[in-house]
Amino acid sequence: MGHLLPFSRFIAALASQGNVHISVVTALPTVSQAEAEHFAALFAAFPTIRRIDFNLLPLDDATLAGTDPFVLRWESLRRSAHLLGPLIANADHLAGDVDIPGIGRIPVDYPPNVLRNPDSLFTKQFIANGREIAEIDGILVNTFDALEPEALAALRDGKVVPGFPPVYAVGPLKSTATDKEAAHGGASSPIAWLGEQPARSVVYVAFGNRNAAALDQIREIGAGLEASGCRFLWVVKTTVVDRDDTSELKDVLGDGFLERVQGRGLVTKEWVDQEAVLQHPAVGLYLSHCGWNSVTESAAYGVPMLAWPTLGDQRLIAKVIKSGGFGLWVEHWSWDGGEGSLVRGAEIAEKVKEVMGDEAISARAKEISLEATKAVAEGGSSHRSMQEFLATLS
Ligand code: UDP
Ligand code: UDP
Repeated sequence: MGHLLPFSRFIAALASQGNVHISVVTALPTVSQAEAEHFAALFAAFPTIRRIDFNLLPLDDATLAGTDPFVLRWESLRRSAHLLGPLIANADHLAGDVDIPGIGRIPVDYPPNVLRNPDSLFTKQFIANGREIAEIDGILVNTFDALEPEALAALRDGKVVPGFPPVYAVGPLKSTATDKEAAHGGASSPIAWLGEQPARSVVYVAFGNRNAAALDQIREIGAGLEASGCRFLWVVKTTVVDRDDTSELKDVLGDGFLERVQGRGLVTKEWVDQEAVLQHPAVGLYLSHCGWNSVTESAAYGVPMLAWPTLGDQRLIAKVIKSGGFGLWVEHWSWDGGEGSLVRGAEIAEKVKEVMGDEAISARAKEISLEATKAVAEGGSSHRSMQEFLATLS
């Protein structure tokens, strides 16, 4: 108690300073009843203090029989000390808001929730993997300097981690010619249909490979597209894995929808060549789940975005779109299916029309696509990065 009390008094003094985040590591099991009660009272008095339980390794060592309990405790702490570093590192991970260069302050709930649970397998892998990154020879990233100037500068000048490996921004990466041939496919392909639509008139709607939307949300999206009055190409997914998708579009979309939008709306469950779509002059907006590939494709081809992130890192990516100025993100739009979280068709229609008519966003999207072209051209930033990377291989 003589050691514990001054610490807990210091903690109380710190806590009364206001804006200080405090974590207290408690070594368990506690030695005495007095200690246990003292901790309980401390955490009850300061609910903002984060309690980190440090479970000591058991001391089942016959040679220690008869040793003074104080010395035994010391020995137990000493033998468990190697566990403390990882415990604190895990607990500190995403404990509060974080600042990301270029996109600003990120509320703690933007990254995936699972990262706040240090015991989850994903988080353990993520942290172990993250530590290894500092040890590797270099990092290739599918981005380009003009898209994320501050983030790249921060990674390169050691602001994030001193001695961080070299970062080669070599994007935007473009698909191979073979992909393109498949895309242009038959006369019934979306690309052929796009060919019949006026320039910049079509909203392309796709939410990525992993997002199977709930039926009621799919119908609201349909209602929104219909009410927007815009032309649209919509990739609908009702299952996480497309080979499981045996549903009929007309059942999914509801009676009469396909008939009502005939001619101005094309709906498909098939894999489309998205790069060919985004490259097409008829496309004027991409309503997207904000997968990183999708965002770099949209940026590369100058298509303004309406961001509707679903999971994983997508809310962080939506921030990149917003800070890059080439799209709009309605932050309260969610996919969680919770009470009152359904995004209504009327609001979707309104935002679609808003971005379609936003001159500033479309000018910025165009500018970024010009920057993308410059980046990969001879002498551009991505081209130079690629050369630097190649030089490290020789
Ligand atoms: N203490 C107490 N009640 C008791 C015994 C001790 O509050 O019945 C507190 C005392 O106020 C002091 C601490 O426990 O803050 C004991 O620390 P100290 O350094 O005086 O003695 P130690 O027991 O560590 O030799
Ligand atoms: N894609 C495509 N056709 C589809 C669906 C997706 O070509 O019907 C491509 C898309 O262009 C992108 C990739 O698949 O390159 C999806 O990656 P992204 O990071 O955008 O999202 P994810 O699905 O991995 O979340």
